[in-house]
Amino acid sequence: MTKSVPFMSRPEFLAGSPLVNGQPIAGPGATLPILNPATGETIATLPLLGAREAELAIASNGAALGAWRTRAAAERAGILQSWHALVAQNREDLALPLTAEQGKPLAEARGEIDYAASFIQWFAEEARRVYGEIIPAAADRRSMVLKQPVGIVGAITPWNFPAAMITRKVAPALAAGCTATLKPSELTPLTAFALALEAGVPPGVFNVIAGDAPAIGSVLTGHPDVAKFTFTGSTAVGKYLTAQCASTLKRVSMELGGNAPLIVFDDADIDQAVAGVIASKFRNTGQTCVCANRILVQDGIHDRFAEALAARVAEFRVGNGLEGDTDQGPLITPAAYQKVRDHVDDAVRHGARIITGDQHHDAGELFHQPTVLVGATEAMQLAGEETFGPVAPLFHFKSEAEALALANRTRSGLAAYALTSDMDRFWRVAEALEFGMVGVNTGIVSNETAPFGGIKESGLGREGSRHGIAEFLELKTISLGLSGQVQA
Ligand code: NAP
Repeated sequence: MTKSVPFMSRPEFLAGSPLVNGQPIAGPGATLPILNPATGETIATLPLLGAREAELAIASNGAALGAWRTRAAAERAGILQSWHALVAQNREDLALPLTAEQGKPLAEARGEIDYAASFIQWFAEEARRVYGEIIPAAADRRSMVLKQPVGIVGAITPWNFPAAMITRKVAPALAAGCTATLKPSELTPLTAFALALEAGVPPGVFNVIAGDAPAIGSVLTGHPDVAKFTFTGSTAVGKYLTAQCASTLKRVSMELGGNAPLIVFDDADIDQAVAGVIASKFRNTGQTCVCANRILVQDGIHDRFAEALAARVAEFRVGNGLEGDTDQGPLITPAAYQKVRDHVDDAVRHGARIITGDQHHDAGELFHQPTVLVGATEAMQLAGEETFGPVAPLFHFKSEAEALALANRTRSGLAAYALTSDMDRFWRVAEALEFGMVGVNTGIVSNETAPFGGIKESGLGREGSRHGIAEFLELKTISLGLSGQVQA
């Protein structure tokens, strides 16, 4: 066990291995170091896999598919329930490597394991509720609709939620009767391997491989036997992979980047507004797709709100997520850290004023102080791109119409937030915001029961909820001819 990770009763979760057909798989020889972003320490070294291993994984998915899809739904549900129980039982042993490879504070990692487990449980339940339809088409004809698993699923996930982004895809795929090969980010594969170890499915039903992203990605998006490709990550990579899927016309789901506005109206409760920003902006040190990226504050409440937010942000405890009660961890890579610096420097050059934070934090190379700045405008980089870091820029607005226009002026359409105590405004604003999810008087929009996903360039399809399993099902129409009028 590495020196920086506390005692684990399941140390194999830190020494994970890619799994194909239920077995660890070796690569051609090159290796991939997994670093703790808080310390720079190498916590594991993995084989670097590529196209060959991806081909083997798809072949094993194909061999396992027939038996898996024809099992009774109740059996698949039972296997998923057992997986859920094991994830819940090993919560601490899964949270530790998650923090070690991703950097989020341990309390957040525990929360993510609970969130990840909730998708397994939810889709175990949904496995038994894949209902068809019977349509009285005509006197001599009935149409029936069967819902069948799409087949083999290829999945690629990002580093910011190393557990939840996986179960939100794989649990519904397996529940529907599909088999799957997952490529997690090379930055955070250990949690994925640990989850796969606990899945308890037959060999070949769920494979996990990591390594050369473009090589593995080409197989998952181009292989004719893969029927469905599901991706979570940046909009640029999502578009590229969607284009790669076009040659075999796969079913595609895309959960892509956001640029969430959070609107604080004059009639908002200040404490609720501050809590909303803390929850949506600073979770995972600002590294979530639904993080408030632009905080729009009405003139009448602006100064009081800015002061209250800055006071709360200045209290954050920044540090290694494995040590003590930290609230804010490191950025994931030097490039991510540099992007945050560039956004702050650019904003200041364009006239923004820092009211707390702004500096490098001495907890380590990738730590940035949680920062609030006022006087943000659309001329700044941070208005047009996800900062993906602990920086809260406040923009002024005067009227509701101005706020809505500003909020909607983006090609992203994932999440938006509004803080108001006026019920009429609540409806007007919720209906006018052009986003897949709107949080009103809350900074949290996601749980396993509600559809998660974006519009515009934030994606295609929905995850979670009763709609999430539909992404892994095909509709088949069966037309039944009758010899005559059926008597009632
Ligand atoms: P990213 O660079 O797009 O990477 C996401 C995944 O794609 C990783 O597994 C990465 O592999 C892989 N990848 C990168 N280039 C590839 C290629 N050419 N072929 C195949 N795979 C490739 O995004 P990220 O920086 O990791 O994640 C942050 C982004 O994800 C943000 O934009 C965020 O908003 C978005 N996100 C969206 C949601 C949502 O539900 N809408 C949720 C979370 C995050 P390697 O890491 O191994 O290179």
